[in-house]
Amino acid sequence: MTLKKSWVESANSAETDFPLNNLPYGVFATEGTAPRCGVAIGDMVLDAAAAEAAGLIALEGGPLLQSGAWNPVMGAGAAVWKDLRRQLVTLLSEGAAEAEALRPMLVPLAGATLCMPFAVTEYTDFYASKNHAFNVGTMFRGPENALPPNWLSIPIGYNGRASSVVVSGSDVRRPWGQLKAPDAELPIFAPCKRFDLELEMGAIVGTPSSGPVSVAEADDMIFGYVLLNDWSARDIQAWEYQPLGPFQAKATATTISPWIVTKAALEPFRAPTPPRERELLPYLAEPGPMLYDIDLSVTLTPAGGVENTISRTNYTNMYYSAAQQLCHHTTSGCSMRVGDLLGSGTISGTEKDTRGSLLELSWGGKEPITLDSGETRSFLEDGDTLTLYGAAQGDGYRVGFGACAGTLLPALDDPFAR
Ligand code: MN
Repeated sequence: MTLKKSWVESANSAETDFPLNNLPYGVFATEGTAPRCGVAIGDMVLDAAAAEAAGLIALEGGPLLQSGAWNPVMGAGAAVWKDLRRQLVTLLSEGAAEAEALRPMLVPLAGATLCMPFAVTEYTDFYASKNHAFNVGTMFRGPENALPPNWLSIPIGYNGRASSVVVSGSDVRRPWGQLKAPDAELPIFAPCKRFDLELEMGAIVGTPSSGPVSVAEADDMIFGYVLLNDWSARDIQAWEYQPLGPFQAKATATTISPWIVTKAALEPFRAPTPPRERELLPYLAEPGPMLYDIDLSVTLTPAGGVENTISRTNYTNMYYSAAQQLCHHTTSGCSMRVGDLLGSGTISGTEKDTRGSLLELSWGGKEPITLDSGETRSFLEDGDTLTLYGAAQGDGYRVGFGACAGTLLPALDDPFAR
């Protein structure tokens, strides 16, 4: 696959995240306007709501682009997803007859405020990168018992909070919680001291289900993907997580990137999961490659400082694909809804600088990382900005996600000291 050319000049650069091959879906606002559906193309965003209102986009069951969220398009079904993409490619291709009519509907990305691209109806987070599970398990249980006995058979996850999901650019406040020093018997209530990030991908369910679905059906249900930072309070987590798993440690915020990169745009980059180390039960078998070759990185920018890349990895480091996770999620009969978000779990490679959390990068705080300025980090400091990037590399073009960023604000005063 090579670059598809657009009449939007900036979309023809090998350096843009948003060539015609991509066409990711977001929601944007400009000064004095309400949030509306848009499509990123080069350094511009096409006001898709305006294009639909003008009759340049026409969808079965429409209008579908007027609500300020992409849920109506998702809910319209896979035939509409395909038709919308076909119409957008036609409208934005080099030589399109509609170019002059569309030109006034382009807004510079630099002047747009990016909003939540869809209403998150439910949120589940998984634990499906083997290197991450092995690293965390080694720290907590030693290398012999690093992987829980179920890990090679089941995509482990927990039900998270849709209400905690925020879009890139939203500040994150350091939380208070119950913490316990390893040598203390009883906990204290205090600001989190070990606040961390988790580099993940998020899969968005576009087609609802009401019973168990196969891996192939699950793959068809996925509308697209976002980058996802599952902010984690490690000291709160260490005290609360046994025996039922994460709760308040994961409920402060989860940041997603503002652009939904569709499954259709990622199609040329499909890649297989790694060889199975234990045979999976038949229902989890994949009928084809269901991961994607997406380069991922994390940067940390201290307040007033420069951006430091602290990790580089790839989505193919997952042991389970989103389709396998979604299939497993429905085995109980659990219904899935339009706008269900599935976090992949922290994505870590095998090398030290490919780990997707500070917990692993600093090995539980024992080996702090050093930034360009000479400062060190075991966990996040107030004022740090964390940014995730992701892109699939094609021949002379790339399909990117834009930035997924958030800044950590200092804890407020004790919320219960009144
Ligand atoms: Mn996570």
